Amino acid sequence: MTDSAREADVIVVGAGPAGSTTAYYLAQAGLDVLLLEKATFPRDKICGDGLTPRAVRQLIAMGIDIDAPGWIRNKGLRIYGGGVKVELPWPELASFPDFGLVRARTDLDEILAERAVTAGAELLQGTNVQAPIIDERLDRIVGVTAKRDGAEVEYRAPLVVAADGNSTRLSLAMGLRKREDRPMGVAVRRYYTTPRHDDDFLESWLELWDGDRLLPGYGWVFGVGNGTSNVGLGLLNTSGSFQNTDYRAMLRRWTAGMPPEWQFTEEFATGPIRGAALPMGFNRQPHYTRGMLLVGDAGGMINPFNGEGIDYAMESGHLAADIIVQALARPTAAQRERALYQYPRILKEEHGGYFTIGRLFVQMIGNPRIMSFLTRHGLPHPTLMRFTLKLLANLTDPRDGDAADRVINAMTKVAPAA
Ligand SMILES: Cc1cc2nc3c(=O)[nH]c(=O)nc-3n(C[C@H](O)[C@H](O)[C@H](O)COP(=O)(O)OP(=O)(O)OC[C@H]3O[C@@H](n4cnc5c(N)ncnc54)[C@H](O)[C@@H]3O)c2cc1C
Repeated sequence: MTDSAREADVIVVGAGPAGSTTAYYLAQAGLDVLLLEKATFPRDKICGDGLTPRAVRQLIAMGIDIDAPGWIRNKGLRIYGGGVKVELPWPELASFPDFGLVRARTDLDEILAERAVTAGAELLQGTNVQAPIIDERLDRIVGVTAKRDGAEVEYRAPLVVAADGNSTRLSLAMGLRKREDRPMGVAVRRYYTTPRHDDDFLESWLELWDGDRLLPGYGWVFGVGNGTSNVGLGLLNTSGSFQNTDYRAMLRRWTAGMPPEWQFTEEFATGPIRGAALPMGFNRQPHYTRGMLLVGDAGGMINPFNGEGIDYAMESGHLAADIIVQALARPTAAQRERALYQYPRILKEEHGGYFTIGRLFVQMIGNPRIMSFLTRHGLPHPTLMRFTLKLLANLTDPRDGDAADRVINAMTKVAPAA
């Protein structure tokens, strides 16, 4: 089997947003890239399908045609809470567009994988990676074994990128456990046929009511533009109800209280309620070890403030690729390692302080009384809410920003990155 093992410069395991972005930038730089995906496109991924301006910037950078049919734009965030409804437009910034998008992951992930292939990556679908191949002498990963068409196959490369999502079997096999001191979310979602499908705001519900009973957690309604909306809710492990909640029942109870003309009822559901975990705040580290880099959910990169993970998956994929390209051009092993260790350092520089504040924030709002106080007293204040939107969605200008940008940038700079 070893004789027939396919060799490449880099193996990327998983073709979600993290893996496809990594493969795209690696291939663009001329490297021989193997992108291994266990599923076959189009495949579903449990998600809210919401893309903030931060994520839109990444899509534009990859040359995705966001003017093509199928993309639905949004102008900002509509928040329900404390008995009020507030609409906050995305901020006007030099660094980011002033609109977000929604696209079902069945489409989005296939589009991103196709971009990687067009750039020159070889995508092998239906290829379920089983384990790392370790060179015992070097104590490094030098490839992976996989199941493909019922057979066991080997792929070899000097560098492997774990982009295999929250479950990241590859990182586990390399001995990387998740950190228990990081927030974790669980969320469920369902699609409904609805007249609200072309909503031009992302909608966030800070309070979920079942009659006059307040349910734990937060909800969203994102119009997908294809006749359906993605309706879901989630809970953080900082909440006292995290362990013993029936999420599916909670979604039904919450949507039962909504206006009937929205059609968020059983008869208009287009599929089952499905749920998954959200690993946040760098919950798996180190992000580089022994020939393997972690990108996206594999490295626990979801923003604790707002549950956004697609952007951070793409940003980390882009950064990992840039660093790999530089590292592989170095003549000695020691120089290559030095270059590769920049990856976790730069990631922390870019997001570590912000994620630390995010962790404090979710600890705070895990207390329902604090959350209720903030909702009731914060939402009616437009200036405060504009600041909060910038903070929650990580949207500031690094230079020449306004006072809110300067405060947020200063806070994230002084917060320790861990
Ligand atoms: C309910 C819910 C709602 C969410 N809503 C939003 C939202 O609205 N906006 C947002 O930005 N983020 C949202 N997120 C987070 C977002 O879904 C993730 O952060 C994002 O998918 C991470 O991308 P990724 O590429 O790292 O991982 P994934 O998207 O999970 O991709 C991993 C890929 O690896 C493949 N794979 C796994 N194991 C193997 C293996 N052994 N061999 C080969 N391939 C393998 C999988 O099939 C998959 O294609 C939500 C998450 C949940 C659970």
